[in-house]
Amino acid sequence: MELNDLFRKNIRDLAPYSTARDEYRGDIGVYLDANESPYENGCNRYPDPHQRLLKQRIAEIKGVPVERIFIGNGSDEAIDGVYRVFCEPRVHNAVSIAPSYGMYRVAADINDVEFRPVPLEPGFRLDARKLLDATDENTRLVFLCSPNNPSGSLLDAEEVRTVLREFPGIVAVDEAYIDFAGTESLVRSLDEYPNLVVFQTFSKAWGMAGLRVGLAFAHPEIVDRMSRVKYPYNINGPTQTLLLERLADTSAVEAQVRELVAEREKLRAALRELDAVREVWPSDANFLLVRVDDPRKTYDRLIAERVIVRDRSRIAGCEGCLRITVGTPDENRRVIEILKNEA
Ligand code: PMP
Repeated sequence: MELNDLFRKNIRDLAPYSTARDEYRGDIGVYLDANESPYENGCNRYPDPHQRLLKQRIAEIKGVPVERIFIGNGSDEAIDGVYRVFCEPRVHNAVSIAPSYGMYRVAADINDVEFRPVPLEPGFRLDARKLLDATDENTRLVFLCSPNNPSGSLLDAEEVRTVLREFPGIVAVDEAYIDFAGTESLVRSLDEYPNLVVFQTFSKAWGMAGLRVGLAFAHPEIVDRMSRVKYPYNINGPTQTLLLERLADTSAVEAQVRELVAEREKLRAALRELDAVREVWPSDANFLLVRVDDPRKTYDRLIAERVIVRDRSRIAGCEGCLRITVGTPDENRRVIEILKNEA
């Protein structure tokens, strides 16, 4: 597989927009090059379009070289990015596991790319062979999500590697919830698989969903193409500053992840004791998929107490299911209290 042949021709030929800050890269000076306001107020200057300082820090934390890091306005930007870079509208298609994260399909629809969901096996297991059978010569992208949303569990690592080895296009593995899983990330295998794109995010374990920062780790050529296609200043200045500050010390996040994982197991055990609950799947993420007798009734019962969970019962493969995010110990106790008293 030649990586270069997988990019859309217009993207291979693209001359990207060059910002004022691409022409001059010094630190101090009188900046009269970008038609900004000269009055300092904390956000009068354009931010670094290449997010150099952030990438250096992320490289240290993740153990991945900067040229393999793409930073997006949420991982949703990176998901859209791979369609824009690899898929010719109305020609190419994308294959994905199902059920999974809804944006893979929405981004396909926006980019006018055929989307092919392949149901997971019972227990939300991945069958690599079945997934590969759904691909054809026009399949450019395969989407996997591990731990998967909404099921919560990791995909079998060997099955994922089979897809990576055998699919001659791009395999995007969404690791939004990997910090809760206690397993090694696929970023350690980027050297081995030039066709691998790993998505991660600061929205979950890192506690910064409001900032909108997601990551794609991939071969430098892929990162380069995606960077040419993104909006020049996709990560705004205050976000870059605040994120760098937060990344200076990661110990609080590590403690929070340990607490959430312990709470997840407690919540799972308590939910399984409830009369209305039929099944709670094992989770490697910060949420639980819970099958109940009457999802609408349980959902409304929680809403009446102003506790909001996600009703996933109309999704194929998740019939009867609610998805409950693990909260603080108090919040989790509250869920159990309410459901214990469910009439
Ligand atoms: N991937 C998965 C699997 C998700 O569940 C979500 C959000 N629910 C995202 C990506 C989006 O993350 P971000 O906030 O980085 O856009």
